[in-house]
Amino acid sequence: MKTLRNIVGRLSAAASLPAGPSRRGGQAIIFVMMVLVILVFVALWQFDLHKTLFVKYRSRNGGDAAALAAARWQAISLNLVGELNIMQAVYISQGLAGDTNAFVEAKQVADLEARVPFTGPMVGFLAAEEAAKNNGMFNNAQFTQDVSDHAGEIRREYLTRYPDPPYHNDPEPPTAWDDYADMCDEIASLGVAAAPDNARYYTDFADWNHMLLNPSFYDAIASQDWCWFFFNAYDLLKSYQSFRDWPALPIYVEPRPADSEFFGLDLRRFSQLSLMSAIPRDNGRPITVKDLLIKLKELADPQYIDTNVVNVAANWLFYRDEVWSSWTDYIGKDFPFRGAVKPEYDYAGADSAVRLVNNVERHTPGIQGADVTWSAAAKPFGTLEGAIKPCQYGLVLPAFTDVRMIPIDASSAPAAGSRPGWGIHIHDHLPNYVQNGLGGLDPNCWYCAQLRTWEDPTFRATGIQWLLQHSDECVIRGPGPGGGGGGTHRGH
Ligand SMILES: [Zn+2]
Repeated sequence: MKTLRNIVGRLSAAASLPAGPSRRGGQAIIFVMMVLVILVFVALWQFDLHKTLFVKYRSRNGGDAAALAAARWQAISLNLVGELNIMQAVYISQGLAGDTNAFVEAKQVADLEARVPFTGPMVGFLAAEEAAKNNGMFNNAQFTQDVSDHAGEIRREYLTRYPDPPYHNDPEPPTAWDDYADMCDEIASLGVAAAPDNARYYTDFADWNHMLLNPSFYDAIASQDWCWFFFNAYDLLKSYQSFRDWPALPIYVEPRPADSEFFGLDLRRFSQLSLMSAIPRDNGRPITVKDLLIKLKELADPQYIDTNVVNVAANWLFYRDEVWSSWTDYIGKDFPFRGAVKPEYDYAGADSAVRLVNNVERHTPGIQGADVTWSAAAKPFGTLEGAIKPCQYGLVLPAFTDVRMIPIDASSAPAAGSRPGWGIHIHDHLPNYVQNGLGGLDPNCWYCAQLRTWEDPTFRATGIQWLLQHSDECVIRGPGPGGGGGGTHRGH
C-alpha cells in the first residue's frame, strides 16, 4: 500500500497537481487512482493473456512430444514383432529340416513375440509421460487415478474374463495379466501427465441394439439430451415402466487380446498360416498364403524358409483386418488433408493420441483459472519394398520407418477412446440391475447413477413433455457415439 501511495504521489507530482487536501487535489487523486486501477487490470489481463498463450504453446509442445514418443514405440514394437515372425519361420524351417532343437527355439521366439505387443506400447506410454514432463507438463491427478483404477480392474478381473492370456509365465502366478497390471501400476506411480486418448479396453463391448449396452444412452440421460431419445429411443421413453421391461442381456462377445489397451498395435493371434483366408486387394488378385510365403522367403534371405512352414501350428501375430483397413475410408472424403493420402500410406491402425489438461492461474481478480486442453496424435508410417502397405500380407512384417503427427480428427481418438468404469458396469452391475432393479445398482458408478435417474418417472415425463413441444427443433447430428445412430468407426 505504501508503494502504491508513493506511485500516486509521484503521478500527481508529474501531473503538477497541487499537493495537499484541497478539493481539487482530492478529485485528481481519485481520478489518478482510477486510471491506475484500470492500468493494473490491463497489465494483469495482458499477463494472463500471455500466460494462457504460453501454457497453450507449452501444452502443444508437450502433447506433440508425447504422441510422437508413443508412436515411435508403436513403430519399434511392430517392427520387432515383424522380425520375430520371420525368425519363427526360420527356426520352424530348421526344425522341418531335422534340427529338433529348432522347434524349441521357435517356441521361445513366439513367447518373446507375444510379450512385445504389451511391453513395447507400455514403454511407449512411459516415454510419452517422460516427453510431456520434459516439456513442462505436470501430473494430472485424474489421469493418474484412471490408470491406477484400471490396473486394479486388470488384476482382479482379467484372468476370469480373458482366461486365455497372450503368453504364460513359468511358474504362474504372476500371469501375463499380472505383468500387465504391474506395468500400469508402475506408470501410475510415476504419475500421468499425458492421458492416452485412444485407449481401447477389451471390455469395451457395446451393443447398439440393447440400450443398456449403448454408451450413448447414458450420455443422453446425463445431459438430458431429449433429441437423442427422440431419434433413438422415443418408444422406450414413452412406454418404459420398470427394469422388468429390459430385454435379457446378450452374451458379451469377448476379444482374445493380443496387445496392450494403451497405444495398442491392433493385432490378433493366428495359429497356422495355411488357414489364412485370401486378403482382398483393391486392384488385382487377392493376396494368398502362397504370396505370403514368397514374401517371407524374400525377407528371410539368405536364411532358408521351408514351404511347409505354413502347415505347422505356431504363434503368429497378424494385423486385425477390420482395423488396418483404409484410413481415408473412415476419415471421410471432405477431411481437409493438405494432399491426397498416398495409397501405400492409406491404412488405419496403431496410432497414438494423447490429451493434456493444464490449469492456467489467472491474476485478474474475478476471473477464474481455466483449463487448457490439448490433444495430439501421431502414427507410425512405412511401406514394404515396392511401396506396398505394411499390412498387405496380413502377417506383421517389419516395415515402419517413420513417425508423423496426424490431425486428431483423423486419429482413432474421437470414436474409440475407452471410458473408465464401463467394463465393471456392464460385467458386474448390469446383470444385477436387470435382476433386481434399483437395488442392484452400484452407489459409486457413474453409469449406475444415470440408470437411477432413468428409473425416476418424473425424469422420463419431463422428456416426453419437452418433446411434445420441441421435437421439431431436433436435428440429426453426425455419426459417432453420442450422436445419431451411435457406433464407432473402428471394430470392437
Ligand atoms: Zn454401474
